This record gives sequence, structure tokens and C-alpha cells, in this order.
Amino acid sequence: MLHNGFVTLAGAGPGDADLLTLGTLKALQSAQALLYDALVSEDILALAPQRCIKICVGKRGDRLSVPQDKTNALMVRLARRGLHVVRLKGGDPSVFGRVEEERNYLDCNGIPHKTLAGVTAASAAAAQFSFPLTHRGEARSVTFLTGRTKDGSIDLRDASVADPEMSLVFYMSSHNAGHIQARLLGAGRSPATPVVLIENAGRAHARARKLSLRDLAATVVAEAWDGPVLMGIGDAFAYARMPQSLAQARFA
Ligand code: SAH
Repeated sequence: MLHNGFVTLAGAGPGDADLLTLGTLKALQSAQALLYDALVSEDILALAPQRCIKICVGKRGDRLSVPQDKTNALMVRLARRGLHVVRLKGGDPSVFGRVEEERNYLDCNGIPHKTLAGVTAASAAAAQFSFPLTHRGEARSVTFLTGRTKDGSIDLRDASVADPEMSLVFYMSSHNAGHIQARLLGAGRSPATPVVLIENAGRAHARARKLSLRDLAATVVAEAWDGPVLMGIGDAFAYARMPQSLAQARFA
């Protein structure tokens, strides 16, 4: 079957249009079909042409969402109609974005594609709340992790999270805060290890909270942190600065 369809797998950044790359903006402006994640904001969707087909294929944790195989099939169907399909993903497509599954499916179906980077939520949070992810002599590496596994259980390998000079940034994990706290303390991390919770990073309504590892689970349970949340754990997060207008509470 002849078609000139093409799929761009593009990162939208964490929500605010200021954090779009020019590459993603150009892709959006030439999109004929847009398949977007739940976390992509209205401001960004408005940048696609009006006549562009727009379909939300969003996933938000366990909430009702379009199954991955439907999204895959939809991308292929639209591309076979000869359209430029933009698969717009929150943050960076390569960070917890299932991008490889989508690329593989496109390859198997002979659909050409390219991937455009986006600003991942951790980078947006670090800039907005003025903390480094690495810091010379204190935080020599940064690891992005998810506590979520396919069956919902927690899977942390102690040896890989015990290093006090490693910054840990947990995605999709705030509901597992209790397990994460217990595992990190069990692995030898100090109860005084700085922690930052950031919700809606990169957005005007972002909120953040500084605390210590010993208080992580209690804080997450006591306060509603139900937007998209990152948990930063490690000495680098002690540098976080929170303007009172943005902070949910005073410094811990
Ligand atoms: N590809 C995305 C991550 C997708 S996984 C990226 O690079 O940012 C979805 C998880 O990302 C959410 O559960 C949350 O932990 C995190 N996340 C996404 N956007 C966020 C935001 N604006 N603020 C805080 N966390 C965010």
C-alpha cells in the first residue's frame, strides 16, 4: 500500500509551553494528526493547526487510559492515510515514555519515524526550584527510577540506591513512598537525607516541599500529592529554594 505517512515521537516537556523545544514546536505546526498524553497542556495542544486530528491517548497512573496496543494501532492507521502523525509525549520520550515499544511497532509496520527530545520533569523541577541534580563532591551521579513495576509492587535493588553520593529521582512513585522510605533506610541511607517533593514541575501552579527521608511516607500520606509528582532524594536536594508563593509549606 502506498503512503507517505510519517510519525514524529516528540517530547512536550512537563506542560508549560515555554519548555517545548523548537523542534517539537515545528513538528506540532506541521502535524495532521496528534496523539497526545494526558499530561500535555491545553496551551501546547493549541499550537497544532486547527484542522489537525487530536486524540488523547493519555495514561495517568492506574486511571482509565487507552491501552498501549490501541495507541500503536492508531499511529499506524493514521500514518497509512498519508498523514504526518505527531505522537506527543509528556517530558522526554526516552524517560519512562514507552518510546521503544512505539518505535518497534512502527518499524514492524514499515512506518518511518523520528524521535525528538523533550525536557524531562526532573530537569524542569531542578531549574524551577533551584537545586542541582549533581553537585561536585556531593552528588556524583543522578539516577531516574520508578518504583512501579508491572504488577504494582516495589522493586529497588539495595546496592544501587545505597550510595550517599547518588541523587535519586523517583518518577511514578509517590504512592509507594512508604516502601521507598523503608528500602532506602534499610539500604543504609541516613534518615536525615534531604528529600524534595515536587508536583506539576515546570508549571505555574507547581508546588514543592522540602523534608527529610524519615518523614517521607508520613508527609505523602498526610498531604494530598495527587498531581504528577517527583520525589528527589539525596544531598543535592538540600539546595532547593522555594519562594513562598510557590511553596506549599515552610522549609522542613
Ligand atoms: N517522560 C516523562 C515521564 C513520564 S512518566 C518525563 O520525561 O518527564 C510520568 C511520571 O513523570 C509522573 O508519574 C510523575 O512522576 C512524573 N512527571 C511528569 N510530569 C511531571 C511534572 N510536571 N511534575 C512532576 N512530575 C512529573
